[in-house]
Order: sequence, then structure tokens, then C-alpha cells
Amino acid sequence: TTKFRDGLAKTRDVFVGQVADLFSRRKKIDEAFFEELEEILIGADVGVNTVMELIDELRAEVKKSRIEDPSELQPILSEKLVGLLKGSGESVELNVQPSGITVILFVGVNGVGKTTTIGKLAWRFKQQGKSVLMAAGDTFRAGAIEQLEVWGQRVGVDVIRQNAGSDPAAVMFDAVQEAKRRGVDVLLCDTAGRLQNKANLMEELSKIHRVIQREIPGAPHETLLVLDAATGQNALQQAKLFGEKSGVSGLVLTKLDGTAKGGIVIAIRHELSLPVKFVGLGEGMDDLQQFDAEQFVHALFA
Ligand code: GDP
Repeated sequence: TTKFRDGLAKTRDVFVGQVADLFSRRKKIDEAFFEELEEILIGADVGVNTVMELIDELRAEVKKSRIEDPSELQPILSEKLVGLLKGSGESVELNVQPSGITVILFVGVNGVGKTTTIGKLAWRFKQQGKSVLMAAGDTFRAGAIEQLEVWGQRVGVDVIRQNAGSDPAAVMFDAVQEAKRRGVDVLLCDTAGRLQNKANLMEELSKIHRVIQREIPGAPHETLLVLDAATGQNALQQAKLFGEKSGVSGLVLTKLDGTAKGGIVIAIRHELSLPVKFVGLGEGMDDLQQFDAEQFVHALFA
């Protein structure tokens, strides 16, 4: 909870300040009240569609329960936000296999924090006593392989790699063989994130999927799309783009600590039926937090 609180400081400072001010300044709930609330939520990047729906629901609630005092509305707002973040209740737990290898694929645009997230997650698994291997599947971006190796050294996990420019599917094949040979618990796979050639990238990702699936039936067990929260509505666009074609099973939202626009989590959760599984709250190996809707909203208001 403290992690959430610290990590969301920027969003909280802006969002909570404005909301608290609104709720204490305005003595009654009227049109002007809703308009101001709408502006604050849109400003926090909750997204226009989501805000409109939310405001409509709040209006209905005010009418139904004959609420007049803004302070009575605040807990209802929190509750609605928690509801939005929970979606249809999809699990935030990773689909970790009770036995055998769990394969997790990471997709997302360059620079969003994919490598960092893989490193953090490797560390998390290691702390749980699991053996981990990483696969350097981004053979396209200069430096991507070395960067993953730096994380590997930091957290004490080996990286399976080939030379830059080699076929990522071949890297995955090697990695799966090595994971089987060693009998590791978890294989974390990086992939390329170039968007210049979307069709090629999607083709590459589906080839990687096929290779992994052929070697380990049922794998990959998770395909996590990594998004940079600081890019706001852009992150939402990326989610729509990847979500359609790459078999994404969950989201990781990074860099929440660096933005006042944490409301993007709500927009993304609302517009896509994909669970946010983790959030990144810093650059260190401990700065990855499993997502929790209640804690998140609590951290926003408390
Ligand atoms: P990739 O290109 O998607 O693999 O992105 P990287 O993992 O290299 O991350 C890009 C930059 O974002 C690096 O400087 C990371 O340290 C930083 N970064 C990643 N996740 C977070 C986060 O949750 N919070 C902060 N503040 N920085 C992050």
C-alpha cells in the first residue's frame, strides 16, 4: 500500500487536491458540480468516454438516492472507480503453472519499459524461490540484448541470446529447449517493439507464438502488453493496436510514478476487457506492484 501511495504521488497531488477542493468548496450537487468533476477526471486522463459514463452513473445515483451533499458522493465515486478497475473481475494473478515451465511473453512498443519489467518480474519470481530464464527476443533494436543481459546480471538470471539481427523465433526455440533442459520454472521472453512496420511485427509475434506453442502445448501462458502510463491516451491506442492481434492476456502499466495522469489506468481498463496485472512505480527491481483496484483507488484518495 505504501508503494502505491508513493508511486502515485504525482497523480494524487493533482487529482486528490482538485477533487478534495471540489467536494469541500461546493456545497451542493448541481450542474456546475458535475461539470467541474468531469473536467478534473478528463484532466487526469481517465478518458472522455469513461468519464461521460461515470458522470451519468453518478447523476443517476444522486437522483435515486436523493443525495444533496457532495461529501456523500465521494464514497460513491470511489466505489464506481473500483468497479471500473475491476472490470468483469478478470484475475490479476499470473497464470503460473503448478508444474512444468511457465512461459510469459512480453510485447509492446520500444521505450515503454518492457526490458525493465522483465527484469523486475524475474527478480520477483526468484524471490519466490522459482528458477528463471530469460530470452532476448528483441533482436532488432540496437542494445536490446545487452540491456536484458544487464538486468540478468543484476537479478542473477541467465539470458538466452543470439546475435543482433537473427530470427527472434529461432531465439525462442533455443530458449525453450534450454528451459526444458534445465527444468526451469519460468521463461520470460522479450520481443521486438518497432512499430515502423506493424504488419511485420504482428507476423513476427504470431510466429513466436507458434514456435513456443509447438514446443510447449498451452504456452505461452501469458502475453503481457507493456504500456507507458505517461503517454496517456497514446497508451490506449497502443493497447487497441496490440490487443487485437497478438493474443494479449494482460497489461502492465509502467512509469505511473512519473506521471500525474494515473487516471489512464481507469480509461484503459474500461475500454479494453484486459486486466491490468502489474504497475511499474519506479526504476528499481522492487518497483513492480501487482495491481489491486481497491488499493489503487485508496491511494488516490487517501
Ligand atoms: P523497453 O524499450 O520497452 O525495453 O524500455 P526499457 O525497459 O529500456 O525502459 C525505458 C526507460 O524507462 C528506462 O530508463 C527505464 O529505467 C524506465 N522505466 C521503466 N519502467 C519504469 C517505471 O515503472 N518507472 C520509471 N520511473 N521508469 C521506468
